[in-house]
Amino acid sequence: MHSEWSWDARAGAMESTCARAVELGLPAIAFTEHLDHTVWIPEAIDDGFPVSLLAPDGSLTPPRFDAVGYLEAIERCRHLFPDLRILSGLEVGEPHRHADALAAVLAVGDFDRVLGSLHCLPVGDVYFEPPGLLRRMTAGDMVRRYLAEVARAVSGSHPFAVLAHVDYPFRYWTGPVDITPFEEEFRHALRATADSGRVLEVNSCLPSLQPTILRWWREEGGTAITIGSDAHEPDELARNFREVAATAEAHGFRPGQKLYEPWTHTG
Ligand SMILES: [Zn+2]
Repeated sequence: MHSEWSWDARAGAMESTCARAVELGLPAIAFTEHLDHTVWIPEAIDDGFPVSLLAPDGSLTPPRFDAVGYLEAIERCRHLFPDLRILSGLEVGEPHRHADALAAVLAVGDFDRVLGSLHCLPVGDVYFEPPGLLRRMTAGDMVRRYLAEVARAVSGSHPFAVLAHVDYPFRYWTGPVDITPFEEEFRHALRATADSGRVLEVNSCLPSLQPTILRWWREEGGTAITIGSDAHEPDELARNFREVAATAEAHGFRPGQKLYEPWTHTG
């Protein structure tokens, strides 16, 4: 979940999200806020885009993450919602490229759940998100380069425990999505993630992809998952969770004793 502490979550609201979690009967919630350092060129600017962050040359430098303020807000919500287990956390963009900046933030306090993710890929020495990438390569090439970069990101000892949204490029796919042409590239990325001892996030944005990804994850040695909605506003909390939880169970994953811990495979 993201809240107002994530630079791109303009409708984010930590306190309302906690209230919503209680209303839904969720036992726990993790606020994994964006920690981004990659300077990139946004080319497709939609209604909610924070245009004030754009430099004259069209690049965007993510604003500094206020770790102290964020951790104080977490503590405040823990007092307001004593029956809800509230995990602190981060979603670190391109974690393998910003090790020092990540270490500096982790030193500020306790972050219970640290995700690593990729949003941007370089073309030459300029970084783009999928809309910009799609102007420079085919959709298939974008997916292949993305998954190759995932394998690089998880191969180091960078301090993130969970790989988030391995299917991110498919959010920008037009037409019916079929991931099977990328099986080999997916398996390579998933094997590298499993070999690194990391947990795979089952991202509920694209629930129909998860059965195939979970099957490949198991076959490549993956043993643990988390379930994440990647929601940026309270109303999106736990979207599609019933569906992806059923998928995870069908693939042999079960919740642990503590419901905020990763689900593991029992077989
Ligand atoms: Zn993300």
